[in-house]
Amino acid sequence: MPFGNTHNKLKMNYSSDQEFPDLTKHNNHMAKILTPEIYSNLRDKETPSGFTLDDVIQTGIDNPGHPFIMTVGCVAGDEETYEVFKELLDPVIEDRHGGYKPSDKHKTDINPDNLQGGDDLDPNYVLSSRVRTGRSVRGFCLPPHCSRGERRAIEDLSIQSLDVLDGDLKGTYYALKNMTDEEQQQLIDDHFLFDKPVSPLLLASGMARDWPDGRGIWHNEGKTFLVWVNEEDHLRVISMQKGGNMKEVFNRFCTGLTKIESLFKDRGHEFMWNEHLGYVLTCPSNLGTGLRAGVHVKIPNLSKHESFGEVLKRLRLQKRGTGGVDTAAVGGVFDISNADRLGFSEVELVQMVVDGVRLMVDMEKRLEAGQAIDDLMPEQK
Ligand code: ADP
Ligand code: MG
Repeated sequence: MPFGNTHNKLKMNYSSDQEFPDLTKHNNHMAKILTPEIYSNLRDKETPSGFTLDDVIQTGIDNPGHPFIMTVGCVAGDEETYEVFKELLDPVIEDRHGGYKPSDKHKTDINPDNLQGGDDLDPNYVLSSRVRTGRSVRGFCLPPHCSRGERRAIEDLSIQSLDVLDGDLKGTYYALKNMTDEEQQQLIDDHFLFDKPVSPLLLASGMARDWPDGRGIWHNEGKTFLVWVNEEDHLRVISMQKGGNMKEVFNRFCTGLTKIESLFKDRGHEFMWNEHLGYVLTCPSNLGTGLRAGVHVKIPNLSKHESFGEVLKRLRLQKRGTGGVDTAAVGGVFDISNADRLGFSEVELVQMVVDGVRLMVDMEKRLEAGQAIDDLMPEQK
């Protein structure tokens, strides 16, 4: 594509050192890995659709760090990005995904019968349960790089496919551009819709271009099964409900997702996937399962306990605020979810959340009663 080419040609007037970004104040995975040598090796390469090294790393250059999480600092513009720029992306993936090697193979398991328990999380503490993943449609550029036409084609394809779902999964598509500000804000406040493009991470990666064109949300009547179209990934598929029945949430997630995949296939489109990376998504942090299973859980005592961080680490869980990744927790309610995406199957990740959250609720009850939790400390998973 012309943008990538011109961009690269201009830069070839300068040496690699003259072009190397200033990363001295940075704390993200890309900045840790990128050396002048890697930059020099990759700077004149581009993917078949014209995505360049500088397109990959721009978001990490413009966002040196994040107050709550260690960000990745790079994005993919198409499926080939991970191959063409692997000299940078393989070590980033290894660093982000706990030592996942270029030769490692990823496993997929979306059979909900393989989950043990999960219908028993105490709703007095677990306020809501949710599972989401992303999917990319092969042959189209990803949101940081797609054209308006491609983006609209993904939207059309999604509307056609989702329209076929029936029964409990029967739903309606709402294009962002046809919604009022108030309608959007209400859906955001109710935790159903992605935020407006205010995050600098989203802006700097190019994912917010042409907003709100081609974006929207599809959901069933009860808002327990939702699909985001053209936010950070082509598709984000979400199952959620109030209370602690993660089993029911995961059942619906697996059923709906499998149906969506076959509806896309019926129309001649498959999702980006390979044995090594699993499902290929925009952000390297979401590769593999793309799955984040999480609960909003009330743990005012445990979250103030000195062992909180260690408990999360040992259970391979992460915390966020309840308003999304950019927010802090309010009133002791946290979003607790699996920290891993790659190298574990979907079922294994949901199992970690179910088992881990059950234990954390037990710990919270102990602390509430003024008792110690030392004997409940888990082993490192
Ligand atoms: P994602 O990883 O899916 O992008 P974010 O942290 O960006 O998640 O949050 C997106 C929205 O989903 C936010 O409104 C957030 O409050 C909501 N959300 C996430 N987890 C849950 C949950 N367990 N219950 C209810 N809402 C949730
Ligand atoms: Mg998000």
